[in-house]
Amino acid sequence: MPTMSSTTPVTPDYEALVQQFDEFAAAEVAPRVQRMESSPHAVERDLALLMAEQGWFGATIPHQYGGMHAGHLAKTLMIQSVARASGAAGAVLQASQLPVSMIIHFGSDEQKAMLLPRISSGDTLLSIAVTEEETGSHVLGMETTARRDGSDWIIDGSKVHIGNSHIAHVHCVVARTASADRAGSRALTAFLVEHDRHGLTVEPHRPALGLHGFSFGKLTFDGVRIPETNVIGEVGDGKDIAYSSSILYGRPNLAAVSLGIHEAILECVVDFLEGRRRYNGTLADLPVLRDRIGAMKSRLMACRQLAHQAVHMLDHGQSCDGELINSKYLNHKWAVESGQDAMELHGAHALRTDYPLQRLWRDVQHTYSPAGTGEVQRQRLAETELGDPPIQWSERLAAKTSLFLATGTAA
Ligand SMILES: Cc1cc2nc3c(=O)[nH]c(=O)nc-3n(C[C@H](O)[C@H](O)[C@H](O)COP(=O)(O)OP(=O)(O)OC[C@H]3O[C@@H](n4cnc5c(N)ncnc54)[C@H](O)[C@@H]3O)c2cc1C
Repeated sequence: MPTMSSTTPVTPDYEALVQQFDEFAAAEVAPRVQRMESSPHAVERDLALLMAEQGWFGATIPHQYGGMHAGHLAKTLMIQSVARASGAAGAVLQASQLPVSMIIHFGSDEQKAMLLPRISSGDTLLSIAVTEEETGSHVLGMETTARRDGSDWIIDGSKVHIGNSHIAHVHCVVARTASADRAGSRALTAFLVEHDRHGLTVEPHRPALGLHGFSFGKLTFDGVRIPETNVIGEVGDGKDIAYSSSILYGRPNLAAVSLGIHEAILECVVDFLEGRRRYNGTLADLPVLRDRIGAMKSRLMACRQLAHQAVHMLDHGQSCDGELINSKYLNHKWAVESGQDAMELHGAHALRTDYPLQRLWRDVQHTYSPAGTGEVQRQRLAETELGDPPIQWSERLAAKTSLFLATGTAA
């Protein structure tokens, strides 16, 4: 459970929510972990639907659309609690909340009225489909095209590593609508593509190293026809839509998944050392091992601060792109460092599938690349320091829907 202290933005206002998240994680998520681990070829749909039924996919959606309107800190605490029980379940929860940013900040009134209540009620799950096999993090190099045909658009190409590819009802797809050299990076456009559109294929699920139960697969578009009303924002807004969603929702969501797994890693290693007898006590009594636990605890405390502070600023309409980027970057990096420590402190038991640690170690590897790899995060941070600051999406977009500025209420 997150530490509640005067130095954290997790004030007592959030205690009831955190308790609700923790109880759900204990009752519904933890009991499913073993089954998800033992069937890596299966996509976990039931748990996604259960979380949808809680209304959790609408964590940041305003009340007027039936959402929780609980803000980014509440969303982080929710993902963190679930990811502590299962990284895969945390990934499911974060992936369908990420595209909410596209609809809230760029959707038309009609799109908001149609989609946001359905996301809030759990009837519609979204995915965000940007990445392509050949171009990866070079978003502006993407090759999937959308061309006009009368009043419709036709999409051709493919997307890979798409979170919740197999359970999403609507994919928020970014495609090329103008040539690559078009000035001002206005060559991309975002579209809503319903999962049952003719010509859209979700390729069979392939298990990955970890996050068993979570699908992040391939979508193929073969002449998929969609109406003009499915364009999100304006034609040419695609880059801004993809980048802003990644900063405002992707970074904090991935930080929360890393943080939940990091907490589980520390719990796991403490249990192991305290339970393993040596000399007149346990391994936890040895000063050299206590020193390593201290280092892990230090990293974890810093990670909590980074993750919670960044989204607290977001909820308060403050400029915080740098904080969101740094939190995502260090939450992954330090969780992996703690994971490696924990592996070493488990000795040979680290490698046994009857111990949970190997699952945590595998799962945490998955938070490096989504919402920007380490290289991408460091480049963005360097730009802010070297006199070429990127757009502050928190200032430009999120401040307008800020939890506190909009309503003056807490969670
Ligand atoms: C669990 C998971 C969930 C995901 N969910 C989604 C999703 O929902 N939607 C979606 O669209 N995508 C998703 N992705 C894809 C993710 O966004 C990409 O993995 C990421 O953009 C990196 O692309 P890539 O893997 O092709 O690596 P590449 O871009 O090929 O990069 C390979 C390596 O080269 C480095 N590199 C690349 N370009 C540069 C450069 N210019 N300068 C310095 N270093 C560079 C990278 O940092 C990396 O270390 C997900 C990925 C994972 C693992």
